[in-house]
Amino acid sequence: MPEYALWSVVILLGLELMSYLVNEIPQRFFNPSAIPIRGKHLDVLSWKDISFITWNKFTTTLFTYHALRFCWLSPRIAWGWSEMTILNTVIAFFSLFVVYDFFYCIWHRILHVRGLYKFIHKHHHHQAAPSRGNADAVNVHPIEFIVGEYCHLLAIFIIPCHAVVAAVFVVLGGILASLNHTRYDIAVPLLFDTKAHDQHHVIPTVNYGQYTMLWDRVFGTYVPHPLSSRPKAE
Ligand SMILES: [Zn+2]
Ligand SMILES: [Zn+2]
Repeated sequence: MPEYALWSVVILLGLELMSYLVNEIPQRFFNPSAIPIRGKHLDVLSWKDISFITWNKFTTTLFTYHALRFCWLSPRIAWGWSEMTILNTVIAFFSLFVVYDFFYCIWHRILHVRGLYKFIHKHHHHQAAPSRGNADAVNVHPIEFIVGEYCHLLAIFIIPCHAVVAAVFVVLGGILASLNHTRYDIAVPLLFDTKAHDQHHVIPTVNYGQYTMLWDRVFGTYVPHPLSSRPKAE
């Protein structure tokens, strides 16, 4: 118990630091209002929003504890520096995101099923123009959050990788999901685009992926953001 309490403090402080940096660092390189607001921005967080955000941050301490414990005990996760290979680093790194988004897309589509939507996922969509980064990203119903978090563990379970890659996957995942809920236009061609998730907040029946639009392209639910489909002005 004392170790878990210490672990929780470290994770919660880390989350606060990440939330701060996700808004502050890109500001030096990107326009903080590059993605135009097209829906109603949730200006004031209600007690329910704040309770969900706080609860979900505490859930993250449990998820990261289980992820660390799994990596420590699983014979499929390498720890030694000398055990690093192309397969368990570079290839595993990309595979983790692909596998994660496969399950996340399915989960996200289930959340949008008529009849179920209003009980869980509607809460996240009452913010039509996310801007707060991490706070808007984790402002979801606790059931939605816990399944989304443990999909990371499912991906690590499926893809044998190096412990460092598993850690990078989880931390980078938190950063990218937070960036998806800012107005920064940050894109890596074919891999990641903050505008794609903004499009989902405007048109909830498209772009179900969290990190990549790969599965949306496969399932035919990918619709590019107007800024992505428009040719750049000279
Ligand atoms: Zn969202
Ligand atoms: Zn949604």
